[in-house]
Amino acid sequence: MDFEFNLEIKKTSRKKTISFIIKNDILQVITPQTFSDNEIELLIHKKSKWIKNKLNANKLKAKIVSKNFETDEKFLFLGKNYNLKFISHSKDLVKLQADEIHAFINTKKFSDLIYRKKIVQHWFKDKALLFLTDMTMEFAQEINLNPGLVKIRSYKNRWGSCNSKGVITYNWKLVMAPESIIKYVVVHELCHRKHFNHSNNFWNEVSKYIPDYKNKKEWLNQNTNVFEW
Ligand SMILES: [Zn+2]
Repeated sequence: MDFEFNLEIKKTSRKKTISFIIKNDILQVITPQTFSDNEIELLIHKKSKWIKNKLNANKLKAKIVSKNFETDEKFLFLGKNYNLKFISHSKDLVKLQADEIHAFINTKKFSDLIYRKKIVQHWFKDKALLFLTDMTMEFAQEINLNPGLVKIRSYKNRWGSCNSKGVITYNWKLVMAPESIIKYVVVHELCHRKHFNHSNNFWNEVSKYIPDYKNKKEWLNQNTNVFEW
């Protein structure tokens, strides 16, 4: 059998049907003893789309680089990579300085990595709220919509939401993405004020402002893990 992925086949007399398990980058196939190689190969082919999707998702997961909150780590902000510098100081303060983010940390807590993370995250959330509120106001005007309230929060698997009262909530991690991507999410949520679903009418409305919205959507799907700390 010749497949583009790693394969492990286990035959067992205890099963009547074939089953597929993805473990990291390996496909495990558990099959009844009676199945021939040809049958197995055919069944794998039939399932190949699902297999590839699962394997790709695992590859992306493996790409998450967890941060240590040490000086000179790279952090994304509006699509650009910044060097993060920690500086011991009398009080906490974070600011952008050319191509660096300077995080001044209270001397007493300077070596506390969890505290560092808290301060840096706080700064990202502040920036996210400011930036996303501004952009939402701007596009609401362009689209001729009344901008509702803008909030931010941490989402695991989404970038934004819009409720029936028009409150738009964004994932603060969006502030790490390039502006063109953020714009897509802003327009997407604003268009929900007109169409409260993902119907064709909704996507037509989005495409008026972001003609290549499909690329942006795809980009977000592919890069989700880049934004996890
Ligand atoms: Zn939506």
